[in-house]
This record gives sequence, structure tokens and C-alpha cells, in this order.
Amino acid sequence: MSIGTTCVQAGYTPGNGEPRQIPIVQSTTFKYATGAEMAKLFDLESNGYFYTRLQNPTNDMVAAKIAALEGGTAGMLTSSGQAANFYAVFNIASCGDHVVSSSSIYGGTYNLFAVTMKRMGVDFTFVSPDCTEDELEAAFRPNTKAVFGETIANPALTVLDIEKFARAAHAHGVPLIVDNTFATPVNCRPFEWGADIVTHSTTKYMDGHGVGVGGALVDSGHFDWMKYPERFPGLCTPDESYHGVTYTERFGLAGAFITKATAQLMRDFGSIQSPQNAFYLNLGLESLHVRMARHCENGAKVAAFLKADPRVAWVQYPSLEGDKYYALAQKYMPNGSCGVVSFGVKGGREAAERFMGRLKIAAIETHVADARTCTLHPASTTHRQMSDQELAAAGVSPDLVRYSCGLEDAEDLIADIDQALN
Ligand SMILES: *Cc1c(COP(=O)(O)O)cnc(C)c1O
Repeated sequence: MSIGTTCVQAGYTPGNGEPRQIPIVQSTTFKYATGAEMAKLFDLESNGYFYTRLQNPTNDMVAAKIAALEGGTAGMLTSSGQAANFYAVFNIASCGDHVVSSSSIYGGTYNLFAVTMKRMGVDFTFVSPDCTEDELEAAFRPNTKAVFGETIANPALTVLDIEKFARAAHAHGVPLIVDNTFATPVNCRPFEWGADIVTHSTTKYMDGHGVGVGGALVDSGHFDWMKYPERFPGLCTPDESYHGVTYTERFGLAGAFITKATAQLMRDFGSIQSPQNAFYLNLGLESLHVRMARHCENGAKVAAFLKADPRVAWVQYPSLEGDKYYALAQKYMPNGSCGVVSFGVKGGREAAERFMGRLKIAAIETHVADARTCTLHPASTTHRQMSDQELAAAGVSPDLVRYSCGLEDAEDLIADIDQALN
């Protein structure tokens, strides 16, 4: 199936007389005739549901659709994008381990890595997404377990050279984890370029309507954990908390990563998505391919307008000719990148805040990638915990306005920007 058909059809095929839309299994628990049957589920010896903290049928159908969209072998939903990135990294890196990450990433992810996971004993080295192969090489340590980056970084809009990062990761025998939130699998499928694990904040384009916070993880099934059993003991040696199951042996490369994340991390941390939210997420996915085209069309038109306007200091939009990341965007996402445009208004930080206050259609929100156009000043909101130096490394200047084109008509968005600039 091509991508649009997958958006509409994947994940659920009803049998004769069954509901056409995916059922919301709004139940915490599942009934069994004997304790012995349930014991098999607890031991991962048979497939089935017993408690929604671990798995729920509605969530699994939607996760299967996202896995199909990314071209992966297995997927799972989480309660948020934050949980998805935490699970993706913590599933293979724990206390005493090290991870190489692009410095140009979402502010919440940066804080998760640099502060909270560091407190848990996981060390991160941040590298510029534009680093040379030598600089990237120098960031690795003997205890490095993964490499992390964002396809299109939020809000800096840098484009990750996925092949460069995958090459370095694989040369060191570790997987590349890519947060594909902004591009979505409609515009880029990182597995096709060498990424091994993909994460999403489904809160953004996948939901697309500002309805439910959520996240997802997908495994490509390509990374050969068993080639480096001493590096990935959690996947390649018996899990005593699951009666000695060895995930790679029992579930193979296609299933080991997601089964471990479900059986251990979801069991212990419990960041499950509610089945009701998964249902809303699926409604969003059904039109993802149609909406992304419009978000990108509006993004391109708004970026072109801003670029030509003398009241604007600078514009960043990966699909805009002349953009620093234009060549990478053309390579990895030739059909369009996203609907988010970053720019600076002449007059700096103060002018940016004044301009945003004058917008009538675009609302000031801590949100992005929504049907309704929204805008944000990262330096005073999402990234306010960062020092100027950290802001610079994350590609966020103090005057940066993040403008997320919704699904309205581009003429109206441009007229609104024009009057606010005036
Ligand atoms: C929003 C976002 C996150 C965090 O997702 P939540 O659903 O808000 O927890 C992670 N990565 C990227 C790229 C994001 O845009």
C-alpha cells in the first residue's frame, strides 16, 4: 500500500459484521477463565491482553498503523512524545551509559537528556547537526549506546543528515534513534535512510487537531542487537523480572525492542496512552497525508512572503530555496518538509513579542503542527530554562518566532502577518 492508503486503512481490518471504525476498548482489564491462562500472558508465553497499563487493543491497532506508515516491524503508543523519547533511549541506555545526540532538538527533549536522564546516570554528548564526520566520530565513547536526532528540529528547523548520523552510529555498533515528529512518515521515512528506531510526538501533525497528547515508538527491526550482546545486555541476556526471557531470542530482531519497552518500561513507568486518545489519534492519521500537503503548501507560501519582506530580518524554512538546509530537505523530503516557519522580525526580541501580540488568526500557544495556525516565542517559553549558549547550540535565537501554518487559506495567513508587521 502507498502512504495515503496506509494512513486510511492500516492497523485494523474488521471481520464480517464487525465495527467499521476501530473499537475503543475502554477497559482497564480483561477476563480469563483460569489463572493458568493469565499466568501465560504474564510470562509472555502467549499473546493477549490482561491490563491496559501494558497493552490495550485500541492502542495496538493505532500503533500498528504508525509502524506500517514508518515501514517498521513493531510499534507502541505512549502517553506523550516525552515518554516516547525517554523509552526509546532508556530501553538501551541506563546508568553508566552514554548517548550522542544532536544539539538541535526540542527543548523538552534536551532537558530530559541533559538534566533528568543525566541524574539517572546516562551521559549525553551534544553535537551540532552540521558537524563534520570527524567531530561526530570524536563524540563517541566505549560506553556509547545510541545516537539521537530530529529529522526536522523543533523549533530550529535544522534538517538532520540521517545518512551521516546512521553511518557514524553503525560504525560504532549502536542504533540511530530519530524523532520524526515534524516531517511525519508522509514526508520522510527515516528507516529508508538508515535510522533504526523512530519516535513521535503524536500530539503534533499525527493528531493534528490539538485533541490529545501522545507519543509513539517504532522499531525498524534492522538493528542486529545480537551482534553486540555485551553492549545490549537488556535485550540479549535473560530478564530476571520476566522469568528469564531473552527478548532477542524469543521475539527476534523484529520484536525484541518493542516487547522489552512494553514488558519492562511500560510495566514499571506506566506512560500508557488512553484508548480514547488513541481513537482520536487514529482519526487524525486517517487524513495525515491530505493535511500534510496543505500544511506544507501554506508553509512554503508564508516563507516566500516573509523572505521577500524588508520588515523581516531572516527566515528559516527547509523547503525554501536558499535555506541553509534546502539541499538536505530536498534529499530527505522532496515532497515537502512541514508547515512550521521560523523567522526574526527586525527589532529583535521585543519586536517579535509585539508582532505576535498583533496577530489575529495565529494564536499564541505552546503548541505546533495543528489545524489552526499558532505561534510561539521559544526563548521566553519552551526554551526559557536554557542559557544563551545552550540556546545558540539549539539553534534558537532570542528573536526567533515559531509560526506553525495550519490548514487555513494561505492568503488569509499572509494578510494577517502583513497587518501585524505594519
Ligand atoms: C512536542 C515534541 C516532543 C514532546 O512531545 P509531547 O507530546 O509534547 O510530550 C518531542 N519531540 C518533538 C520534535 C516535539 O515537537
